[in-house]
Amino acid sequence: MAIFKRPALKTTSRKKREMPQGLWQKCPGCADVVHEIELAQNLRVCPRCDYHFALSAQERIENLLDSGSFVEHDGELRSVDTLQFQGMASYEDRLRKYQDATGLIDAAVTGHGAIEGHRVAIAIMDFRFLAATMGSVVGERLTRTIEFGTANRCGVIIISASGGARMYEGMLSLMQMAKTSGALARHASERLPYISVLTNPTTAGVMASFASLGDVIIAEPRSMVGFAGPRVIKETTHQDLPEGFQTAEFLEEHGLIDSIVHRRRMRAQIAQFLTYFSAAA
Ligand SMILES: [Zn+2]
Repeated sequence: MAIFKRPALKTTSRKKREMPQGLWQKCPGCADVVHEIELAQNLRVCPRCDYHFALSAQERIENLLDSGSFVEHDGELRSVDTLQFQGMASYEDRLRKYQDATGLIDAAVTGHGAIEGHRVAIAIMDFRFLAATMGSVVGERLTRTIEFGTANRCGVIIISASGGARMYEGMLSLMQMAKTSGALARHASERLPYISVLTNPTTAGVMASFASLGDVIIAEPRSMVGFAGPRVIKETTHQDLPEGFQTAEFLEEHGLIDSIVHRRRMRAQIAQFLTYFSAAA
Protein backbone atom coordinates (compact mmCIF):
# COMPACT_ATOMS: atom_id res chain seq x y z
CA MET A 1 0.00 0.00 0.00
CA ALA A 2 1.11 3.51 -0.81
CA ILE A 3 1.06 4.53 2.85
CA PHE A 4 3.96 2.15 3.62
CA LYS A 5 6.23 3.86 1.09
CA ARG A 6 6.96 6.79 3.38
CA PRO A 7 10.72 6.45 4.10
CA ALA A 8 11.44 8.75 1.13
CA LEU A 9 9.66 11.57 2.94
CA LYS A 10 11.70 10.94 6.08
CA THR A 11 14.94 11.35 4.10
CA THR A 12 13.79 14.77 2.89
CA SER A 13 12.97 16.03 6.36
CA ARG A 14 16.31 14.79 7.73
CA LYS A 15 18.15 16.72 5.00
CA LYS A 16 16.18 19.83 5.89
CA ARG A 17 17.17 19.56 9.54
CA GLU A 18 20.85 19.30 8.64
CA MET A 19 20.72 22.55 6.68
CA PRO A 20 21.28 25.56 8.97
CA GLN A 21 18.26 27.83 8.65
CA GLY A 22 18.76 30.96 6.59
CA LEU A 23 22.37 30.31 5.54
CA TRP A 24 21.69 28.24 2.46
CA GLN A 25 19.04 28.54 -0.22
CA LYS A 26 17.98 25.79 -2.57
CA CYS A 27 17.92 27.26 -6.07
CA PRO A 28 14.52 26.71 -7.75
CA GLY A 29 16.34 26.91 -11.12
CA CYS A 30 18.99 24.20 -10.79
CA ALA A 31 18.14 22.62 -7.40
CA ASP A 32 21.71 23.35 -6.28
CA VAL A 33 22.31 24.75 -2.80
CA VAL A 34 23.68 28.30 -2.77
CA HIS A 35 25.18 30.12 0.21
CA GLU A 36 23.53 33.37 1.31
CA ILE A 37 26.83 35.27 1.06
CA GLU A 38 27.34 34.08 -2.51
CA LEU A 39 23.81 35.25 -3.37
CA ALA A 40 24.26 38.60 -1.66
CA GLN A 41 27.46 39.21 -3.63
CA ASN A 42 25.75 38.32 -6.89
CA LEU A 43 22.60 40.52 -6.76
CA ARG A 44 20.75 37.39 -5.55
CA VAL A 45 21.28 35.63 -8.88
CA CYS A 46 22.26 31.94 -8.81
CA PRO A 47 25.94 31.72 -9.86
CA ARG A 48 25.26 28.28 -11.39
CA CYS A 49 22.13 28.76 -13.51
CA ASP A 50 21.35 32.53 -13.43
CA TYR A 51 18.04 32.02 -11.61
CA HIS A 52 16.93 35.41 -10.26
CA PHE A 53 15.88 35.13 -6.60
CA ALA A 54 13.39 37.71 -5.29
CA LEU A 55 14.75 41.07 -4.15
CA SER A 56 13.26 43.29 -1.47
CA ALA A 57 12.22 46.82 -2.42
CA GLN A 58 15.20 48.14 -0.46
CA GLU A 59 17.63 45.90 -2.37
CA ARG A 60 16.15 47.10 -5.67
CA ILE A 61 16.59 50.73 -4.63
CA GLU A 62 20.24 50.04 -3.82
CA ASN A 63 20.79 48.21 -7.12
CA LEU A 64 19.03 50.63 -9.42
CA LEU A 65 19.24 54.16 -8.11
CA ASP A 66 22.18 56.52 -7.78
CA SER A 67 23.54 56.22 -4.27
CA GLY A 68 21.66 58.36 -1.75
CA SER A 69 19.28 59.79 -4.37
CA PHE A 70 16.09 58.01 -3.28
CA VAL A 71 13.44 60.01 -1.42
CA GLU A 72 10.41 58.05 -0.27
CA HIS A 73 6.88 59.45 -0.78
CA ASP A 74 3.61 58.61 0.97
CA GLY A 75 5.22 56.18 3.41
CA GLU A 76 2.50 56.92 5.94
CA LEU A 77 -0.45 55.62 3.86
CA ARG A 78 -2.16 52.66 5.53
CA SER A 79 -4.89 50.27 4.44
CA VAL A 80 -8.25 50.29 6.19
CA ASP A 81 -10.23 47.10 6.73
CA THR A 82 -13.30 48.43 4.89
CA LEU A 83 -14.88 45.03 4.28
CA GLN A 84 -14.31 43.87 7.89
CA PHE A 85 -12.77 40.82 6.23
CA GLN A 86 -13.10 37.71 8.39
CA GLY A 87 -11.19 34.63 7.35
CA MET A 88 -8.70 32.45 9.18
CA ALA A 89 -7.25 35.72 10.43
CA SER A 90 -8.60 39.26 10.15
CA TYR A 91 -7.16 41.54 7.47
CA GLU A 92 -5.72 43.79 10.16
CA ASP A 93 -3.92 40.84 11.78
CA ARG A 94 -2.50 39.81 8.44
CA LEU A 95 -1.29 43.30 7.67
CA ARG A 96 0.37 43.53 11.07
CA LYS A 97 2.08 40.15 10.55
CA TYR A 98 3.58 41.23 7.20
CA GLN A 99 4.48 44.66 8.54
CA ASP A 100 6.43 43.02 11.37
CA ALA A 101 8.11 40.52 9.04
CA THR A 102 9.17 42.98 6.33
CA GLY A 103 9.44 46.35 8.08
CA LEU A 104 7.18 47.75 5.32
CA ILE A 105 3.75 49.36 5.76
CA ASP A 106 2.45 47.87 2.51
CA ALA A 107 3.59 46.06 -0.63
CA ALA A 108 5.01 48.97 -2.65
CA VAL A 109 7.74 51.48 -1.86
CA THR A 110 7.50 54.65 -3.92
CA GLY A 111 9.32 57.92 -4.35
CA HIS A 112 11.74 59.71 -6.59
CA GLY A 113 15.45 59.44 -7.25
CA ALA A 114 17.98 59.30 -10.07
CA ILE A 115 19.33 56.60 -12.37
CA GLU A 116 22.72 57.55 -13.82
CA GLY A 117 21.72 61.18 -13.39
CA HIS A 118 18.22 60.85 -14.92
CA ARG A 119 15.54 62.02 -12.51
CA VAL A 120 12.79 59.39 -12.15
CA ALA A 121 9.60 58.75 -10.24
CA ILE A 122 9.85 55.14 -9.15
CA ALA A 123 7.64 52.48 -7.55
CA ILE A 124 8.91 49.10 -6.43
CA MET A 125 6.67 46.23 -5.41
CA ASP A 126 7.91 43.85 -2.73
CA PHE A 127 6.62 40.29 -3.09
CA ARG A 128 7.37 39.43 0.54
CA PHE A 129 4.44 41.60 1.63
CA LEU A 130 1.23 39.59 1.04
CA ALA A 131 2.53 38.45 -2.37
CA ALA A 132 2.71 42.14 -3.40
CA THR A 133 -1.04 42.16 -3.92
CA MET A 134 -2.50 45.51 -4.96
CA GLY A 135 -4.89 47.03 -2.47
CA SER A 136 -5.85 50.67 -2.07
CA VAL A 137 -2.50 51.71 -0.55
CA VAL A 138 -0.42 50.12 -3.30
CA GLY A 139 -2.73 51.60 -5.96
CA GLU A 140 -2.72 55.06 -4.39
CA ARG A 141 1.07 55.11 -3.92
CA LEU A 142 1.58 54.04 -7.53
CA THR A 143 -0.90 56.62 -8.81
CA ARG A 144 0.76 59.42 -6.84
CA THR A 145 4.18 58.28 -8.15
CA ILE A 146 2.92 58.50 -11.73
CA GLU A 147 1.33 61.91 -11.04
CA PHE A 148 4.60 63.12 -9.48
CA GLY A 149 6.40 62.03 -12.67
CA THR A 150 3.88 63.89 -14.83
CA ALA A 151 3.99 67.06 -12.70
CA ASN A 152 7.81 67.08 -12.61
CA ARG A 153 8.19 66.01 -16.24
CA CYS A 154 10.31 62.98 -15.51
CA GLY A 155 10.15 59.32 -16.47
CA VAL A 156 8.19 56.80 -14.41
CA ILE A 157 9.64 53.40 -13.56
CA ILE A 158 7.53 50.68 -11.96
CA ILE A 159 9.21 47.46 -10.87
CA SER A 160 6.34 44.99 -10.66
CA ALA A 161 5.97 41.71 -8.82
CA SER A 162 2.52 40.70 -7.79
CA GLY A 163 0.01 37.98 -7.13
CA GLY A 164 -2.68 40.40 -8.38
CA ALA A 165 -5.44 42.37 -6.70
CA ARG A 166 -5.85 42.03 -2.92
CA MET A 167 -9.03 40.09 -2.17
CA TYR A 168 -9.26 41.49 1.37
CA GLU A 169 -10.18 44.86 -0.13
CA GLY A 170 -12.60 43.56 -2.76
CA MET A 171 -13.79 46.20 -5.22
CA LEU A 172 -11.44 48.83 -3.75
CA SER A 173 -8.57 46.67 -5.01
CA LEU A 174 -10.01 46.24 -8.48
CA MET A 175 -10.58 49.97 -8.94
CA GLN A 176 -6.82 50.50 -8.53
CA MET A 177 -6.39 48.91 -11.95
CA ALA A 178 -8.41 51.68 -13.59
CA LYS A 179 -6.90 54.40 -11.40
CA THR A 180 -3.27 53.53 -12.17
CA SER A 181 -4.06 53.07 -15.87
CA GLY A 182 -5.81 56.47 -15.98
CA ALA A 183 -2.81 58.18 -14.39
CA LEU A 184 -0.52 56.52 -16.94
CA ALA A 185 -2.73 57.70 -19.81
CA ARG A 186 -2.40 61.31 -18.57
CA HIS A 187 1.38 60.80 -18.20
CA ALA A 188 1.57 59.50 -21.78
CA SER A 189 -0.50 62.41 -23.12
CA GLU A 190 2.28 64.71 -21.81
CA ARG A 191 4.70 62.65 -23.96
CA LEU A 192 6.60 61.46 -20.90
CA PRO A 193 8.11 57.96 -20.70
CA TYR A 194 7.02 55.03 -18.56
CA ILE A 195 9.26 51.97 -18.27
CA SER A 196 7.61 48.85 -16.88
CA VAL A 197 9.91 46.23 -15.36
CA LEU A 198 8.39 42.80 -14.75
CA THR A 199 9.92 40.50 -12.19
CA ASN A 200 9.02 37.01 -11.00
CA PRO A 201 6.04 36.69 -10.74
CA THR A 202 3.90 39.49 -12.23
CA THR A 203 0.34 38.31 -12.60
CA ALA A 204 -3.39 38.98 -12.63
CA GLY A 205 -4.78 42.48 -11.97
CA VAL A 206 -1.31 44.04 -11.96
CA MET A 207 -0.35 42.50 -15.30
CA ALA A 208 -3.80 43.40 -16.65
CA SER A 209 -3.28 47.07 -15.79
CA PHE A 210 -0.18 49.23 -15.33
CA ALA A 211 2.44 46.47 -15.73
CA SER A 212 1.52 45.88 -19.37
CA LEU A 213 1.20 49.58 -20.28
CA GLY A 214 4.88 50.55 -20.47
CA ASP A 215 6.28 52.47 -23.43
CA VAL A 216 8.98 49.89 -22.90
CA ILE A 217 8.27 46.62 -21.11
CA ILE A 218 11.28 44.71 -19.87
CA ALA A 219 11.48 41.60 -17.72
CA GLU A 220 14.01 39.74 -15.66
CA PRO A 221 14.93 36.34 -17.14
CA ARG A 222 12.53 33.43 -16.59
CA SER A 223 9.98 35.56 -14.71
CA MET A 224 6.49 34.13 -14.59
CA VAL A 225 4.27 36.69 -16.27
CA GLY A 226 0.58 36.32 -17.08
CA PHE A 227 -2.99 36.71 -15.91
CA ALA A 228 -3.73 33.45 -14.08
CA GLY A 229 -0.93 31.07 -13.16
CA PRO A 230 -0.25 28.05 -15.42
CA ARG A 231 -1.59 25.63 -12.78
CA VAL A 232 -4.90 27.49 -12.53
CA ILE A 233 -5.31 27.62 -16.32
CA LYS A 234 -4.46 23.95 -16.67
CA GLU A 235 -6.92 22.93 -13.96
CA THR A 236 -9.66 25.12 -15.45
CA THR A 237 -9.25 24.22 -19.12
CA HIS A 238 -7.93 20.65 -18.70
CA GLN A 239 -5.52 21.39 -21.54
CA ASP A 240 -1.77 20.93 -21.69
CA LEU A 241 -0.09 24.30 -22.01
CA PRO A 242 2.69 25.05 -24.55
CA GLU A 243 6.30 24.63 -23.43
CA GLY A 244 7.54 27.71 -21.55
CA PHE A 245 4.02 29.19 -21.39
CA GLN A 246 3.87 32.39 -19.31
CA THR A 247 7.60 32.81 -19.01
CA ALA A 248 9.03 36.21 -19.88
CA GLU A 249 10.96 34.53 -22.76
CA PHE A 250 7.74 33.13 -24.26
CA LEU A 251 6.09 36.57 -24.11
CA GLU A 252 9.14 38.26 -25.63
CA GLU A 253 9.08 35.79 -28.50
CA HIS A 254 5.38 36.63 -29.06
CA GLY A 255 5.90 40.40 -28.92
CA LEU A 256 4.34 41.23 -25.54
CA ILE A 257 7.66 42.07 -23.87
CA ASP A 258 10.32 44.20 -25.53
CA SER A 259 13.41 42.86 -23.86
CA ILE A 260 14.67 40.37 -21.29
CA VAL A 261 17.30 42.06 -19.16
CA HIS A 262 19.66 40.37 -16.72
CA ARG A 263 19.63 41.97 -13.28
CA ARG A 264 23.30 42.86 -13.66
CA ARG A 265 22.48 45.01 -16.73
CA MET A 266 19.15 46.41 -15.49
CA ARG A 267 20.39 49.78 -14.23
CA ALA A 268 22.47 50.47 -17.36
CA GLN A 269 19.61 49.34 -19.62
CA ILE A 270 17.03 51.59 -17.94
CA ALA A 271 19.49 54.51 -18.09
CA GLN A 272 19.96 53.86 -21.80
CA PHE A 273 16.19 53.96 -22.41
CA LEU A 274 15.91 57.19 -20.41
CA THR A 275 18.69 58.76 -22.47
CA TYR A 276 16.90 57.71 -25.64
CA PHE A 277 13.56 59.11 -24.45
CA SER A 278 15.06 62.40 -23.29
CA ALA A 279 16.70 62.83 -26.67
CA ALA A 280 13.41 62.10 -28.42
CA ALA A 281 11.39 64.50 -26.25
ZN1 LIG B 1 20.60 27.79 -9.83
